[in-house]
Amino acid sequence: MSVLENINEQIVNSKSILILTHEYPDGDAIGSSLALRLALLKLEKKVAVYIPVPDKMYSFLPGYNEMLIGNTVPDAKDFDLCISLDASDQDRLGIAKDLFSQVGNTICIDHHITNQNYADLNYINAVASSTCENLMVIMASIGVAINKEIGECLYTGMLTDTGGFRYNCQPETLEMAATIMETGVNINTIYRIVFDVVSINKLKLIGRCIDRLELLEDGKIAFTYMLQTDLEELKLDESDSEGIVNQGRNIDTVEVSIFAKEREDGSFKISLRANEIVDVSIIASKFGGGGHVRAAGCESAMTMDQIKQALVDEIKKQLQ
Ligand code: 5GP
Ligand code: MN
Repeated sequence: MSVLENINEQIVNSKSILILTHEYPDGDAIGSSLALRLALLKLEKKVAVYIPVPDKMYSFLPGYNEMLIGNTVPDAKDFDLCISLDASDQDRLGIAKDLFSQVGNTICIDHHITNQNYADLNYINAVASSTCENLMVIMASIGVAINKEIGECLYTGMLTDTGGFRYNCQPETLEMAATIMETGVNINTIYRIVFDVVSINKLKLIGRCIDRLELLEDGKIAFTYMLQTDLEELKLDESDSEGIVNQGRNIDTVEVSIFAKEREDGSFKISLRANEIVDVSIIASKFGGGGHVRAAGCESAMTMDQIKQALVDEIKKQLQ
């Protein structure tokens, strides 16, 4: 049997399904989770989505308010299947990572080239733009037709992971987007909410990060950072830093942009973006992270200066 057939059989045989995704969830993580929830409800399954800290930007998506969040931790005993979405390794599930193994059967659907195949059944197509794109294939396989609500969730994930259909797009990506549009999804509104709407304090945070931006290696590398004090002073949370790494990448001389975000415990979350040459997934992997060829990330407990130096040293090897 093919993986798709196995996944179909596993879903058919399950009554109660738990959906998990990676921590600091983005549009693809939340969109795919809510889309799969709606699809499984159509198949009359009992479904729960657990996203400990969701990003309020996506509160317009159907089912957002039905998710289990915060301290409302689901009990593994209540589920016979757990499906992980958009998470390349089990640690990426954050505080939900143990819950995943506690459920008897597991499936992983993802599009990261660095995926560790940690579930019983793994559907990993790294050519796909997003987990949402892979989910459309799963939905066809389990016989769920895409309606407007499912379409809104899937479209959001595809839109965010492709930066507005700019990168990681295959002809199939746009064909699937067209199929979704036919369900009546309002793509203008979704685009505006996801990419254009900004609070004044987020705009100020972007300003601070641009002010601090340094150009290194003849302008080929951009480095900037955000501190916890920025978030406190501007009353923002980490999700408000989404996208700031692109400011550095957009500079005409830059090949790689590095954005270091201080976490509450003083460690750093690093976002890496490349334009055309450097494979940042290799660099992130060297620091225990992962991701895609031109967009990757990792975590580090080193000081900011040490991180900057270590990353620049690795990037230089690829620029030569
Ligand atoms: P971002 O910079 O937007 O947080 O992440 C960019 C890409 O790198 C995403 O596809 C994300 O899944 C991946 N990524 C970010 N941080 C990590 C990490 O700590 N570990 C792994 N394996 N992947 C990461
Ligand atoms: Mn994704």
